[in-house]
Amino acid sequence: MDLSFTDEEIAFRDEVRAFLDENLPKDLSDKVRVGGELDKDDMDRWHAILNAKGWLASGWPVEFGGPGWSPVEKHIFEEEAARANAPRIVPFGLAMLGPVLQKFGSKEQQDEILPRILDGSDWWCQGYSEPGAGSDLASLKTRAVRDGDHYVINGQKTWTTLGQFANKIFCLVRTKTDGKPQEGISFILVELDTPGIEMRPIKLIEGGHEVNEVFFTDVRVPVENLVGEENQGWTIAKFLLTHERTNIAGVGFSMKALEELKAQARRIKRGGRPLLENPLFAARVADVEIELEAMKITNLRMLYRAQTQGQPGPETSILKIKGTVIRQTLNDLSRRALGPAAAPFPSEEMFGNAALGEPEDVYAAAKYFNNRKLSIFGGSNEIQRNILTKAMLEL
Ligand SMILES: Cc1cc2nc3c(=O)[nH]c(=O)nc-3n(C[C@H](O)[C@H](O)[C@H](O)COP(=O)(O)OP(=O)(O)OC[C@H]3O[C@@H](n4cnc5c(N)ncnc54)[C@H](O)[C@@H]3O)c2cc1C
Repeated sequence: MDLSFTDEEIAFRDEVRAFLDENLPKDLSDKVRVGGELDKDDMDRWHAILNAKGWLASGWPVEFGGPGWSPVEKHIFEEEAARANAPRIVPFGLAMLGPVLQKFGSKEQQDEILPRILDGSDWWCQGYSEPGAGSDLASLKTRAVRDGDHYVINGQKTWTTLGQFANKIFCLVRTKTDGKPQEGISFILVELDTPGIEMRPIKLIEGGHEVNEVFFTDVRVPVENLVGEENQGWTIAKFLLTHERTNIAGVGFSMKALEELKAQARRIKRGGRPLLENPLFAARVADVEIELEAMKITNLRMLYRAQTQGQPGPETSILKIKGTVIRQTLNDLSRRALGPAAAPFPSEEMFGNAALGEPEDVYAAAKYFNNRKLSIFGGSNEIQRNILTKAMLEL
C-alpha cells in the first residue's frame, strides 16, 4: 500500500492552495485562526465563494452539483482548508440531508431541495436528539400522527446546532408505537416557521450560543415532506450518521492546532526560556504529536481503502475517538501554556483588545471548553468503543 500522494494529487493540492490564497477573505480566516464565533453572514459568504467555484458540495456526485472528487481529493481539500483557517462547511444540508435525499428522496424532493442547499436559500438543522434520546436514539418520543394529508407533530428536540440560523429542520419522529422501537421511526422535513414551533437557546459554558431546544405543539406538516417510506426512518438515520462521521478525525484541524501550540510555547517564557524547552512540557507536546502522526497514517490507510474497496466500516470509530481526544489534548496544552492568561472569557466586543494578550491566545479557554463537545456529538466516544468491540472484536 503506497500512502504517498500521486503527482495528480499533489497538483490538485497546489490548485486548492492557490484557490484558498486568492479567495478566502482575510477577515474570515483571522476570525477562525483565533477561535472567534462566526455569524450566519460569515458562513454564508464562504459557502457562496465555494459554490461559485463548484467546490461546495465536496461529497456529492457530479449529477447533483458536486465536484466529483475522490475520497483522497476530498481529504486534501479539507486538510488545506483547515490549514488556511477557512470557516468549516456547515454540514447539515450539505453532508447530511443532501446524501439522504440523493439516496432516499423523491425526484420532486431532489429537484426542489438540493439546489436550494447549494445556493444557500435554505439553512437546515438536525432534529435527532431529545432529552431522553441521545445515545439511545431509537427511544425517541416526538410523535407524528397522520391526519388526512398532514402529519401532526408533538414533542421536543434538543442540542439543535445553529438552529437559530436555520429556516428548516429534518426530524426523526415516531409514527408507530408498537413493535420494536426502531421500526416505528420516520424521517420528515419541517419548515421552522410552521405554527406551533418554538426554539429556545441553550447557553454554553464558554458563553457561546451554538445549540438550541426545539418544541413542537400540534405542528401540521404536509405528507409530501416525508422522506422515503413511513417507518423507514431508522435506515435513513443510520445512513445519515455514516456521513456525519466522515472526516470526523479532523486531521487538518489538529495539525493546525499543533503548529499553533508550538508557536505559542516558543513565544511564552518560563524562567527566561521558551516554554517549549521545558522538558516536561516538551514531552507532553511530543506525546500528542506522535499520536497525531499515527492517526494521520491510519486516516490515509482508511482513505486508501475507501478509494479502492468502497466505504470503510466500523474502523471509522477509531478515527472518531483518536481524532477528538487529540484535539482536546492540544486545546488543554494550549490552556496550560497560558496559565492565568487563559482565564478571561472575552466577549465579541473585546475582540482584538491588546490588553487581553495576543489575539490567538484570547480564546484559548473558550476553545478548550467548547471542544469538550467533540467526544460527545456524532455518537459519544463510549458508544464508538461499544461499536468497535462488537464489530471488530466480535465481543
Ligand atoms: C455541542 C453539541 C451539538 C449537538 N448537535 C446536535 C444536533 O445538531 N442535532 C442533534 O440531533 N443532536 C445533536 N447533538 C446531540 C448528540 O448527538 C448527543 O449529545 C449524543 O448522541 C449523546 O447523547 P446524550 O447527550 O443524550 O448523552 P447520553 O446518551 O445520555 O449519554 C451520557 C453518557 O453515558 C454514556 N453512555 C450512554 N449509553 C452508553 C452505553 N450503552 N455504553 C457506554 N456508555 C454509554 C455516553 O457515552 C455519555 O458519556 C449535539 C450534542 C452536542 C454536545
